[in-house]
Amino acid sequence: MSTPILEARELRVTYGGHVALDIPHLALAPGELVGVVGANGAGKSTLVNALLGWSRGAPAVSGSVRLAGEEIGALPPHARVARGLALVPEGGAVFMRLSVAENLAAATPPAGAAGRAHDEAQIEALFPRLRERRHHMASALSGGERQMLAIARALRLGPSALLLDEPSIGLAPRLVTDVLRAVRGLVDQHLSVLLVEQNVRAAIAVVDRLILLERGRILAQGPVAAMRDDPRILEAYLGEA
Ligand code: ATP
Repeated sequence: MSTPILEARELRVTYGGHVALDIPHLALAPGELVGVVGANGAGKSTLVNALLGWSRGAPAVSGSVRLAGEEIGALPPHARVARGLALVPEGGAVFMRLSVAENLAAATPPAGAAGRAHDEAQIEALFPRLRERRHHMASALSGGERQMLAIARALRLGPSALLLDEPSIGLAPRLVTDVLRAVRGLVDQHLSVLLVEQNVRAAIAVVDRLILLERGRILAQGPVAAMRDDPRILEAYLGEA
């Protein structure tokens, strides 16, 4: 197997005595879209935050994180971003009082990542709605448009691996499909994406592989074709006991 674009080993996050995450091994291959699903509190946000080196509260975090074979687990988030990792946190990350164009202009690629960064034309081709809304304030966008803007801002950082935390949350069903299709399109252009998704049905439609988290641990994982028939997925998430 080729070197994973993103790989974590013995990744543990604890709050006081409480283990929020305990992942012996997780890998994302180049050009792969992997979905992470699980109930509220399963540790999905904790996982993507720990991969970027970002945490809420003051947890103890340990373990190895490698990006394209290079150890980044001891680096602060901005240094991981400079090496090609980006995160769109839950709820997106946009400046509400800036226009779409200003939001995009404010996301400049770090030194070294400029060659990989999506330029304006590529972003407009991916999200035509953002071109139409160029001069609108982010606060005036719909939830789906704002999520597209948050993803577009991350693409301006030139990531080789992108972490997406629940991009479909709060979106109308048609917009969920639009956003996740756009994510699939990015992966088909060789971006690698780890997608946290509560909407398991929507995730199954686009991902290559699925990881099921429960209480901070990987309960099951595998190709989506096999996982969609896993009774734990069927019963808990697809309502087909
Ligand atoms: P959700 O879908 O609700 O966002 P999640 O799967 O993303 O859930 P996390 O938010 O990662 O779950 O939470 C995982 C565990 O870590 C939970 O047990 C939670 O209580 C704990 N946790 C998360 N943040 C903190 C914090 N700041 N302080 C203490 N415990 C925390």
